[in-house]
Amino acid sequence: MNLLPIGLLLALAPGAHAFAPGGQPTYEGGEPQRIHVIRPAVQARLDRTPAWQDFLAAEGPDWDVVWDEATGTPRRIRGPGHPVRTDSPDAVAEAVLRWLAPYDHLLGFEPGQIVVRRVSHVERLDSWYVDLDVLRDGLTTWRGGITARIKAGRLVDLGVSTYGTQPVVGAFVLDDQAALREAITRGPAPGAQHERPSVERRLLPRETLSGIELRRVWEVRTRTGDPPGLWVSFVDAETGELLSVHNEVRFLDGHVTAEHDVRSPLDGLTISPLPLVEVENDDGDVVVTDAQGAFTVADVPPLVTDLRGRWARVTNDAGPEGLLVGNGPDLLWTAADATQAEIDTYVFLHQVRDWGQQWGPEVRMVKYAVDAYVNLNQTCNAFFDGDVNFFRAGNGCNNTGRIADVVFHEWGHGFHYWSIVGGFQGFDGSLSEGASDTVAFLQTGDHRMAPGFYTNGGAIRNVDNTRRYPEDFVPADAFVHSNGLIFAGAMWDLNERLAEELGEQAAHDVTSSILAGLLKGGPDIASAYDEALFADDDNGNLADGTPHECALLEAFGAHGLGPLGAGQPYVAVHEPPTSFGGDLPLRWDIQSASPRCFAYEPTDGALHYRVDGGEWQVVDITFDGAGVRAVVPSPPLGSLLEYWLEIEHVSGSIFNDPTGGPIHPYTLYVGSVLEVWCQDFEADDGGFKHRLLSGTDEEGADDWQWGAPAGRGGDPASAHSGDRVWGTDLGQGNFNGTYQSQKHTRLRSPPLDLKHYDGAFLHYWRWLTVEDGHFDKARILADDAVAWTNHATNADIGDEHHIDDQWMPHAVPLPAEATGDRQVRLEWQIQSDQGLTMGGWNLDDVCIFAPDTPDNRLGIHDFDARSAGGATLLGWTQPVHEPLREVKLVRSFDGWPTGPDDGDVLYHDTAPVPGESVVVGDPVGAGYYAVYASDGERWLSWTRPGLNADRHGGTSSDGTTPDGTDPDRSSSGGCACDVGTTGPAGGAWLLLGLLAWRSRRRDGN
Ligand SMILES: [Zn+2]
Repeated sequence: MNLLPIGLLLALAPGAHAFAPGGQPTYEGGEPQRIHVIRPAVQARLDRTPAWQDFLAAEGPDWDVVWDEATGTPRRIRGPGHPVRTDSPDAVAEAVLRWLAPYDHLLGFEPGQIVVRRVSHVERLDSWYVDLDVLRDGLTTWRGGITARIKAGRLVDLGVSTYGTQPVVGAFVLDDQAALREAITRGPAPGAQHERPSVERRLLPRETLSGIELRRVWEVRTRTGDPPGLWVSFVDAETGELLSVHNEVRFLDGHVTAEHDVRSPLDGLTISPLPLVEVENDDGDVVVTDAQGAFTVADVPPLVTDLRGRWARVTNDAGPEGLLVGNGPDLLWTAADATQAEIDTYVFLHQVRDWGQQWGPEVRMVKYAVDAYVNLNQTCNAFFDGDVNFFRAGNGCNNTGRIADVVFHEWGHGFHYWSIVGGFQGFDGSLSEGASDTVAFLQTGDHRMAPGFYTNGGAIRNVDNTRRYPEDFVPADAFVHSNGLIFAGAMWDLNERLAEELGEQAAHDVTSSILAGLLKGGPDIASAYDEALFADDDNGNLADGTPHECALLEAFGAHGLGPLGAGQPYVAVHEPPTSFGGDLPLRWDIQSASPRCFAYEPTDGALHYRVDGGEWQVVDITFDGAGVRAVVPSPPLGSLLEYWLEIEHVSGSIFNDPTGGPIHPYTLYVGSVLEVWCQDFEADDGGFKHRLLSGTDEEGADDWQWGAPAGRGGDPASAHSGDRVWGTDLGQGNFNGTYQSQKHTRLRSPPLDLKHYDGAFLHYWRWLTVEDGHFDKARILADDAVAWTNHATNADIGDEHHIDDQWMPHAVPLPAEATGDRQVRLEWQIQSDQGLTMGGWNLDDVCIFAPDTPDNRLGIHDFDARSAGGATLLGWTQPVHEPLREVKLVRSFDGWPTGPDDGDVLYHDTAPVPGESVVVGDPVGAGYYAVYASDGERWLSWTRPGLNADRHGGTSSDGTTPDGTDPDRSSSGGCACDVGTTGPAGGAWLLLGLLAWRSRRRDGN
């Protein structure tokens, strides 16, 4: 602004005018301006005035005029031109004045009142601009006077603003200082510091009820910095009234923009606005850009801006911070002004903050300034530590400050951190990685995380994945990113499912809202689903569909989370039957993981079963409310029944129980059983031993463990009973739950005594996950005979894996070659190839059972005859199974007794105590002895030396000693020689210590 210092200059002390304004302002805001109207009839009448007709007569008819209808004076005169000399400004001014002089009456001035104010020349346009003041009472008039325009040496245009006939009113009563004081104190910025004042006498045209008048005023000019002001005030010189004030500061409307990488250095550059940067003009005025990068500042160039904005402050760790200086109005950042990483980080941070303002405006990461450090002297990473930090390029990686996804991700950590309302112990590292990846994909819409992270264009992660909890979850710091992919994968799937339902924009909004909401609860990966439901709820009711429950259920379920985490919408609960005889009824109760989302609507189904490994049979099932019933027609007692349930749903999907159907069906021994031996692995490891049979011996190669399973790698999270099991890699500590590839290991029981039982079989509880047996072999061996192997296909299929998802009862017949010697070693093996590995074996409640037959109930397995002085001591353990009514010991001299009535009855107990140890003495000291028990209806039917029979005084007829397990025992004590000599003593039976030798030792139960 050009001030003509023809008035008084006053030096003002700072703050001297900080008076409070009194009352409402009375002045006019804005520049004093008259409004001109053109009415053709009025103009035409004015055209007829003699003065104008004289002008036309002198200058020619082609001149036009526009009249000021209020004053009757021309406002504009233009025409074919009048030649003027243009040798110099003075010559031009003189020519103009000379040409105007005859038209003083027309143009509204008195001779001698017209003075030259300025003569300007624009050579390129061959134009002259001449401004003249017309004085009244020696005063100039605001915006008054005459202007002339000369082009190509001809005066073609006159602008006229004269008030030749209007009255001059008022008087200079106030002095200039009083006028200055009035202008400031009554003006719009009374509290500001006004500097560089000028005060000048002037005439101000004013429209009044009696017409236009020229009022004597003081024209006061001052400057203020805050607010920016070049104030022009008109103070009535007589009354002191502030008639008008306006601000001549010309504000520059500009934009700050930046050229930045679109998403990574590989995508090319684009230009975006820079919000919230400061722009400072040369007067020191500082303004801040808005969301569109727009700013308005007093036009005092040059303008300066940097990347240390009001919300994000970017610091360059590798040199000075970027600085951009320009004349405006627009300022464009390029790599010439800052490192690209500084610019990109600034831009990307504000992009993600826009998202944050929409979905979590209350979160500190959105509200308060964030510091970003770029070009840190490391590579291939970035981190959040309250600030966001990005590494320089190198080692095959781009500068992470130039990768949008990385900036979004690191900001996401802060958004997560400060979202948690319950304290920062809720900050779960794995969840945070997943949440940050989710924040990133919500900006990019891309499941690839940070393509362009690597200079070859590669991305670092993919949120469109099938990772599942807990199988793929590793509770160790090194795995937080891969763990996070479970959650990010669920959120990606959620967004995809919602998009199908609601469209992409609505899906993005719902996903964003759920993410921002669930973070507040501070969940970990396992509880993220629950917090997501709460975040989704819109009405304080989590039982009404909430409203996106089903999409959440499916999306999280696909990643092992939430009620559908087990992978199927229905759960069948089946208790294997315990009573037998005739038809065998089976029942399932079926529940939906979420009735609101997956109504249980079966349309068809079947029960598949087979007996003793025969052909599969099918029987119909009956739907029964929320359950299913089926009957296996009369499976033979003592057979091995395998069965599985198949249900077709209204949707067409097939649902099996067990989920693998024929691959790992239920197994059941048909009939009641007796317990021979059981081990629940609670008190100790059962004496089981394990070893690596083949494969490289490295850490975890032989991964059989006794203890509590951790639920990882497909393993169960708890034992079938109690706390402990045996299993391959139980998943505790450093273990991941899965067996290793290319290993062959085994777990082996100690020798187990089958006692007297016939038909003994293995029964245990199994939780086995193993690849198709074509590749990985799970086996059960009895001694060295294979008793069971997992389902196997062939190289063309190869994907029918055995995957138990619940503890399964498993009955396994024992091969005859293993049981012949009445003891067995059980062995569980796994033999893996180089590919896929799974959770492997988990065993609990391992038992040997035998059919509940009378002989198995009544059998005696430890009968023993031995010498004691000249007599024979006969000891055994009573059968442990009820009912037990009688026990007889008989002796024969001419071969094995054939039953309880075959020989001399040496002992007859009609109230035997099950499991009690009994010792009876026979003074005869020789013979074939056998003991028999009865349940009141029948007697033990067999006589088996080594079990319920023994002889004393010679070798048995079959050439073996009576007690096969201890061949030396029966002949110890040097009394075998007495057998023939002592002989029976005329019926003088002596029962020795019958009661004294009894003990309460119970066996095998
Ligand atoms: Zn991270």
